[in-house]
Amino acid sequence: MTDCIFCKIIAGEIPAEIVYNGTHVTAFRDINPVAPVHILIIPNQHIDHIRDPRAFEGELLKEMVQTANEIAAMEGIAESGYRLLINYGPDANLVVPHLHLHLIGGKFLGPMVAV
Ligand code: 5GP
Ligand code: ZN
Repeated sequence: MTDCIFCKIIAGEIPAEIVYNGTHVTAFRDINPVAPVHILIIPNQHIDHIRDPRAFEGELLKEMVQTANEIAAMEGIAESGYRLLINYGPDANLVVPHLHLHLIGGKFLGPMVAV
């Protein structure tokens, strides 16, 4: 999609530290990490957000979560643990309108907080 930051990352038009590049899913490090490991897993096809019906076609969401689990193992945090997070809407502060799954870990994250 034109003017989508994440589509431009997939197209190689904006640099990013890509950790996985598959047929349906790409993963790259968040530019503003909140923990030692903060990776975004996104569909290669532009899908607006988690309420977009296209997110539920085929095995996409399953593949995104499986990819997150595999990257967590590659990053060495499969045993220590991690958080998988999808924001939606203004109250969750969704900023980038291209579906993405946050993989966050590498330190004790504490309880979920809404500040
Ligand atoms: P959201 O709040 O939409 O769920 O999270 C969007 C995430 O994308 C944020 O954590 C933000 O730091 C990250 N982000 C925004 N722009 C870029 C970018 O150009 N490159 C990378 N690697 N991450 C980005
Ligand atoms: Zn996009």
